[in-house]
Amino acid sequence: MKGSLLVVSGPSGSGKSSLCKKLCAEYEFACLSISSATRAPREGEQDGKDYFFIPKAVFERKIAQEEFLEWANVHGNYYGTDRRWVEKTLASGKTVAFDIDVQGQAAIARLYPNETTSVFVTTSSIAILKDRLIRRGTDDAAAIAQRLENALGEMNCIDRYDYLLINDDFDASFETIKSVALASRVKRGKVELRKFIANWRG
Ligand code: 5GP
Repeated sequence: MKGSLLVVSGPSGSGKSSLCKKLCAEYEFACLSISSATRAPREGEQDGKDYFFIPKAVFERKIAQEEFLEWANVHGNYYGTDRRWVEKTLASGKTVAFDIDVQGQAAIARLYPNETTSVFVTTSSIAILKDRLIRRGTDDAAAIAQRLENALGEMNCIDRYDYLLINDDFDASFETIKSVALASRVKRGKVELRKFIANWRG
């Protein structure tokens, strides 16, 4: 049987990337979609592991050649999801986890309504998010203010998601996202029922 698509979005600092990475590192049924991005790598990020870091001209050529399943401009940089890899991985029976923004979720849910399960990850308050961003230490005060502003916009899209995960406790959230990922694999809508019943009857 084909796999499933697990789309995870949420504000920067919500912990969505760590949840997706841990899920795919610990469970063979899940694979992380590595996006292409035009921004510069941050300290510690690796090409091909965190993103495929590519120049804007290459990104634009890939758009023209329809290599992306979806792409978006997020905070001034381009990010895109590789179409062929996703199609191949879904067909192989794996669960593809996407750490993408609200625009990406809308596109994938439209393209694959039956296969997609979406989770919005956030904190229980903006104060906790701000505290995490400060403690993370990767952004200056202006960048943090920008991220919090963006977070408010993203929070307005929660109603488009299947699940809302308040990530105040990472271990508990991990157990929850693992359960959602497993449940995404048995979504009834993924199965062509007439075909299934015909085969079942033999
Ligand atoms: P960052 O630059 O902090 O790694 O990511 C910025 C935002 O872009 C995050 O919300 C991340 O989830 C989102 N993002 C990363 N890759 C993709 C992608 O391929 N498509 C879309 N639509 N958003 C992405």
